[in-house]
Amino acid sequence: MKYLLSFVLWISGLAAIAQPRPSTQTIARPKLVVGIVVDQMRWDYLYRYWDRYGEGGFRKLVREGFSQEQTMINYLPTFTAPGHACIWTGSVPAIHGIAGNDWIYSASGTSTYCVYDSTVQPVGGSWRAGQMSPRNLLTTTVGDELKLATNGRSRVCAVSLKDRASILPGGHQSDGTYWYDDSTGTFMTSTYYRTDLPGWLQQFNARKLPDSMLRAGWTLAQPEKNYRHSTADSTPYEGRYKGEKTPTFPHTSFRPGDYGAIRALPAGNTLTLELAKTLLTAEKMGTGADPDLLAINLASTDYVGHQFAPNALEVEDLYLRLDRELAQFLAFLDQRYGKGNVLLFLTADHGGAHNPRFLQDYKIPAGQFTEGDMGKNMQHDADSVFGVNAPGIQKDAQRSVVRFFNNYYIYLDDTLIQSRGYNREAIIRRIRQYMLGRPGIADVVRLDDPSVLLLPEPIRSRIINGHHKKRSGDLIVIPEPGWFAGYAPTGTTHGTWNPYDAHIPLLFYGWNIPKGRSTQPGSMTDIAATLCTLLQIQMPNGCIGTPIRFRESSGN
Ligand SMILES: [Zn+2]
Repeated sequence: MKYLLSFVLWISGLAAIAQPRPSTQTIARPKLVVGIVVDQMRWDYLYRYWDRYGEGGFRKLVREGFSQEQTMINYLPTFTAPGHACIWTGSVPAIHGIAGNDWIYSASGTSTYCVYDSTVQPVGGSWRAGQMSPRNLLTTTVGDELKLATNGRSRVCAVSLKDRASILPGGHQSDGTYWYDDSTGTFMTSTYYRTDLPGWLQQFNARKLPDSMLRAGWTLAQPEKNYRHSTADSTPYEGRYKGEKTPTFPHTSFRPGDYGAIRALPAGNTLTLELAKTLLTAEKMGTGADPDLLAINLASTDYVGHQFAPNALEVEDLYLRLDRELAQFLAFLDQRYGKGNVLLFLTADHGGAHNPRFLQDYKIPAGQFTEGDMGKNMQHDADSVFGVNAPGIQKDAQRSVVRFFNNYYIYLDDTLIQSRGYNREAIIRRIRQYMLGRPGIADVVRLDDPSVLLLPEPIRSRIINGHHKKRSGDLIVIPEPGWFAGYAPTGTTHGTWNPYDAHIPLLFYGWNIPKGRSTQPGSMTDIAATLCTLLQIQMPNGCIGTPIRFRESSGN
């Protein structure tokens, strides 16, 4: 017995030696990660308005942070949902599956919105705005990996006016993802995340900030003569607000209760940043032992950009206002967390083209086409050549070999092609021939053909990276530079491979970020890879990016 006892003691002593004591040394990580994605911010806006910015906003990020100057979007199409998905997953549509803001499943021909989810219900907002979740996103995000790395202790939240621009950044395990409901003028979520709105958000919504914002409208922040970087206030290239006769300041025609109008006003950014500050404070983000993460999307820059196009007075005023609010937000972070304790980055989900008529007036080749009209004509052409709707075929059986032309993708109806024994190769040849005869079309690329390899870079790799086998179409249309698929003669849009759509700002600032500037080419997918390298956590499971090498330099 005595021997047995000493044997047990000996064994337990051995176990004590074998078991390492818990270490007090932890990995150095920031208290908080904040990502600010300025929707449709072209890289050149950093410098176009440089002399107009104050010291505490964009200039502070460039001077005291690290600017990765040549960051390009490395897939097509350059739309919002793929952009946000890419930033936070480090992946591309071919892998993360967010092939557009909407897409068509090739197998069934049914279309879906990128974050639509019929299995969830709205929380704190309307049905139309509320059946949303990240279920269509096929990979993890930085936030998901942060939670996995810290045994779920890190908290991850996301805010935006747009559902897709908070849901995709927030990822699958978000603790709070909130977006704006036009019908109520309040922020909401869905049952994917939780069954009620947190008390602090109910209080925030009860402040009814959009009411006073709509009453105030939008006036120029400075005397008009100071706006040297923009066209005159009234040009034919600009869209008008509802109820306006001219697209000119002051913009004050907003009806009370027209809450959707907030989106295309600078106030939309003000509202989102106010929500971000309230969330950080109320949720005590960045006060635990592990880093928390907040993804912020400022969406009003996109709506204003679409309506007015880059050279409008409105865009200059919008960025001056944003610069000021950014300065206040950075000061808020410094004051709350202490300088250098927050790892922050600022980027964009895509850029934006100039208005084609504006470019034409500068004698630059440009133009636009509508996918709706062009698609119908393409269908008619192909169907008549192949006798799809020839006499004798019942009207209700009338179909087209071209199912859709959407997001630059042409989808063929393979069920019809097979059932009627059409020659698929001949149909593709005919579509290419027809499309290449239209103005502004540079190429129609077939994704399952090795000739895709003969395309020049970066178009080739961006087509390949952007094409999801089950969600993208059979052929992709590449417009000539300066051309795009759009519906309005005013304003602008984005979606192509060209630098104006694909070149985005990328600024890192704060925790462990040296001052510097690099002109080394990089990709949007590098953002997530860099964040994970800094945080010393695993990269998202579809990440193809390369971490940025920060080198200190004197800056500018
Ligand atoms: Zn966008």
